[in-house]
Amino acid sequence: MIEFKHVYKNYDKNDNTAINDLNLEIEDGDFFVLVGPSGSGKTTTLKMLNRLIRQTSGDILVDGKRIDDYNLREMRLQMGYVLQNIALFPNMTIEENITIQPESLKWSKERRHQVAWDLLKKVGLNPLKYAKRMPSELSGGEQQRVGIVRALASNPKIVLMDEPFSALDPISRNQLQELVLKLHKETKMTFIFVTHDMNEALRLGNTIAIMRTGHLEQIGSRDEIINNPKNSFVNGFFKNQHNDDKKIKLIIDSQKCQEIHDQIPELSEEDNISDLAHLLKNKEFVLIKSSDNKVWKVTTKCLLNYLAREAE
Ligand code: ADP
Repeated sequence: MIEFKHVYKNYDKNDNTAINDLNLEIEDGDFFVLVGPSGSGKTTTLKMLNRLIRQTSGDILVDGKRIDDYNLREMRLQMGYVLQNIALFPNMTIEENITIQPESLKWSKERRHQVAWDLLKKVGLNPLKYAKRMPSELSGGEQQRVGIVRALASNPKIVLMDEPFSALDPISRNQLQELVLKLHKETKMTFIFVTHDMNEALRLGNTIAIMRTGHLEQIGSRDEIINNPKNSFVNGFFKNQHNDDKKIKLIIDSQKCQEIHDQIPELSEEDNISDLAHLLKNKEFVLIKSSDNKVWKVTTKCLLNYLAREAE
């Protein structure tokens, strides 16, 4: 189990607090998603856990032991890290990139070769074709597949992923989301995934922690978040995401929204989901007119439920 206990982080003495009394627990084997707007402290949280930076105060524990009390190298080997900008070494082949950690663990050449080939196969990259290629000979999506398996190569207990798909096109992003769900199921490692995208959080997370200005605004299972969302900030995540061209009709058609009589609708089902999310910022529900002139009550729960189901 991973625990953050009253953790604070100030990058410099006079600056605002980047992490402000963060408390959380992550169970072994969870798919834990940390979601929040840019600047809310997500990357800082991951980096503190990996000891890339040190907290100003408070304790971070892994399996009941303070992370400062672990040997740094051994601790890092227990934590894979996938970065947004992929960061494969450009002058090393794909196989060499994947086996960096196994090599530092002094695994035999045969064992390293085997693990690289097995992992490439697992993520749909034919090793005969890809193992000897250089990173520049792969697409962005393929490179990130390699970035992911590289983090798994030494069989760590914990895998940290910091916005790994945000630079990818929607199709690659979708495929890789499916891939990490599959890998999580197969490996049973603890995945900690950072994103600013609520759709992605709902798609991937067993547990979702919503962060704002350095602390947790809400934490719970995906169902708990859907059933009891904090409207005022959940809304913020829907802006500039993938709902700009999706129509509210999709929600009305797929969710059990309540029909309302004798009330004036505020939006039509042909309006965009992002418009609905905007209105839900300050209210419990929005009244939507469907093409057969019925009026439906659409709540934040309806919206989140739609997003979560759409992801499955
Ligand atoms: P997120 O990952 O949610 O976008 P970050 O953890 O990167 O957020 O940043 C949290 C806060 O800490 C922000 O206000 C950011 O400007 C600040 N911050 C992050 N890294 C540094 C740094 N190296 N020096 C000073 N401030 C930083």
